[in-house]
This record gives sequence, structure tokens and C-alpha cells, in this order.
Amino acid sequence: MTDHSNRKTSLRTRVAQALHFVEGDTGAVVPAIQPAATYARDENYDIRKPYFYRRDGNQATCHAEAIIAELEGAADSLLFASGMSAATAVIEHLPTGAHVVAPRVMYHGVLHQLQTYAKNGRITLSDYTAGDHDELAAAVAAQKTALVWIETPNNPNWEVTDIAAAAKIAHDAGAKLIADCTGTPPNITRALDFGADISFHSATKYLNGHSDITAGVLSVRETGDFWSEIELIRKLQGTVLHSFDAWMLIRGMRTLFLRVDKCCANAMAVAKHFDGHKHIEVVHYPGLPSDPGHAIAKVQTDGQFGGMMSIVVKGTEQNAIDVARFCEVFYPATSLGGVESLIEHRKTVSGEGFPVHPRLLRLSIGIEDADDLIYDLEQALSRAMS
Ligand SMILES: *Cc1c(COP(=O)(O)O)cnc(C)c1O
Repeated sequence: MTDHSNRKTSLRTRVAQALHFVEGDTGAVVPAIQPAATYARDENYDIRKPYFYRRDGNQATCHAEAIIAELEGAADSLLFASGMSAATAVIEHLPTGAHVVAPRVMYHGVLHQLQTYAKNGRITLSDYTAGDHDELAAAVAAQKTALVWIETPNNPNWEVTDIAAAAKIAHDAGAKLIADCTGTPPNITRALDFGADISFHSATKYLNGHSDITAGVLSVRETGDFWSEIELIRKLQGTVLHSFDAWMLIRGMRTLFLRVDKCCANAMAVAKHFDGHKHIEVVHYPGLPSDPGHAIAKVQTDGQFGGMMSIVVKGTEQNAIDVARFCEVFYPATSLGGVESLIEHRKTVSGEGFPVHPRLLRLSIGIEDADDLIYDLEQALSRAMS
């Protein structure tokens, strides 16, 4: 007989079952939501671990963190009320004057936050061209660096950064590497395995997948003083994820693998269809063999490449805006990683002064029928260009 005693179920199975959750008292296969803001002490007047007050965390949030830690292969994960509050906690924990190296163009909210801290004299900031490892290395070497920030794939042009190479650059300089891999969730990209010290995801996006909460998560291979500091920032700023939202996140993550499989397959179909199209100047999608980041992305995304892409349309800026306006299946909305496909004219959304191509449309490809998505873009393009 085969010995099955050491067989571990796959991540797919464990995530679909929220780590084989069964409630002790009732046998419920779905966790209850505990909304308490405060918890009574026990008969000895001791605090009942692990919860004390809302800002310390709660059961549903810890459950969601355990699922993400499993996905990431992490020692620990911490969930915040948004991706931005998670990112801010990392920036906030840096000592005054710390040198941070980050992409010149990246997710606009994080960039704005880094620039604000730099303007206020809290940190010093150097930049590099996303995906350019030589420029990254030069920026890190130019002065004593505390933190290297990479985003891969990188908004909104989806440049790919080699996480292992960036980790080496950071570690050789005594710096930590944070990898924002929101565009490719941890079921396809495990940044810690490639050497990142902190893996960061806006869980608003693929992890939740239903565009109905905001959440952010940090995961680490090793805990320690810096991790305790970040947890303390979360507590004192009151940015822990709410139990209701954690419950929604747990429900969303049960279908993470299925959703992401379909998003990736759809994105590949859309990218191939519009690559070389008469109305399209370029398709930025690491899944295309011609894309400069293709080879690294293939390794880093388990061959799946993700559901995010951008297209630069020919013609005028107004033509590009019209394509977004004329779509009937794609929603003209910001955000990404949901089951529904979204299209947005990045320049309108990120505002004047942000370096983005004026004819760039960012597409978040959902789980709909791929032909419907292709047809929708075709009709919007021909209407906009006529
Ligand atoms: C959305 C996003 C964030 C910010 O997350 P929120 O949950 O919106 O606060 C950070 N980085 C990337 C790449 C994102 O897409």
C-alpha cells in the first residue's frame, strides 16, 4: 500500500478551504464575523490572548493573514486597511534621513507618499527607470541605502524587475528589498522565494478579487525588531484590517487560483489579438514573447504573466479617451484585479505632471468571456478612430 501519511495537500486545496477551516463549536465550514472592539479580561484579570482591543487585530484578520502567509511561504503576514496604509507603515518605520530608492514611475499613490516623506525631510529619495537593473544598482550604490522599492510588474507600462537581482543589489548594500507584486498575486509570484525581504500586495486587487473592500498586506521571511515596529505602527495608527473586510477577503481568496488562471488566459488572448493591430501602437504585456520583460516574467509568474496590460492607441489623446468611453463590456474605472474587466486612461486618472504616455489605456482583464472583451475593444476602437 502507498503510504499517504506525509502527503501535504496543495496550496490550491488549502486556499480553497481557507486552510481547511472548521469552527470548533459548530462545525461551520465558514468562519463567523466577530465585530467586537474590546475583549473582557479573564477571571484572574489577565488579558485573554491574542486579542485585547480592535486596533490589535481580530480573529478574521489573523485567519486571512494565515492564508496569505501560506500563499507567500512567509513567516508572518500583516493585513492593513488598504494597500496604502501597508505601504505607509513601511515608509514610516524608516529612521529619519533614511535613503530610499524607488522607480521614477510606479503606482502613483506610493510614489506620492514617498515624495511627501522626502519633501518633509523624513527620508531621502533617489529614483531609477523601472526595469533598468543597472540604474537601480547605481542609485543604490550612490549613498548608504536603507530600502529598495521595486514594483513588478510595474505600473502602468508593466516593466518587469528581476526580484532576485534586485535583492542581490539591495543586500550587497546592506539595504532591505520591498517588492510590490500587486499585479501578479502570490499564487503566481512569491517574491520572498526570490529574495525580497518584504512582499507587499494591495489585497484590494487580486487577493480579494471582487472590488468590494480595500486591504493591504505585508509578508516577511523573517520577523524581528523591524517587523514588531511595523506592527506597532499599524496598532498606533489604527490601520489594521476590519473584521468584516477580512471576512470578505477570506471569501474572495477561496477562488484566487481559479480567478487568476482565467484572468491570465484572457489577458494572453487579448494581448495576442491586439499585438500588431492597425489601431494599436504597442501592447505592454510581459506575456508577449516580444516584451522585454518576458523571460524574467515567465520565471517569476510561474509561466502565467498576470492579467494586467496597457495598450497605446494610435491617433490622438482624445482617441484614447474615446476608446475608454465607448467600451460597453469593460468598465471605465480605476483599480484592478477584480472579476470584471476595467479600462482606464491613465493620464486622466494620475493627473498632469505624472509621466505617463498620453495615449495609454490600462486594462485589468477579468474573468469574462475573452471573445466578448476582444469584440468590445474592437468596436470601441473602430468607433473612436472613425
Ligand atoms: C492599488 C495599488 C496599491 C495601493 O493599494 P490600495 O489598496 O488601493 O490602497 C499599491 N500598489 C499597487 C501596485 C496597486 O495597484
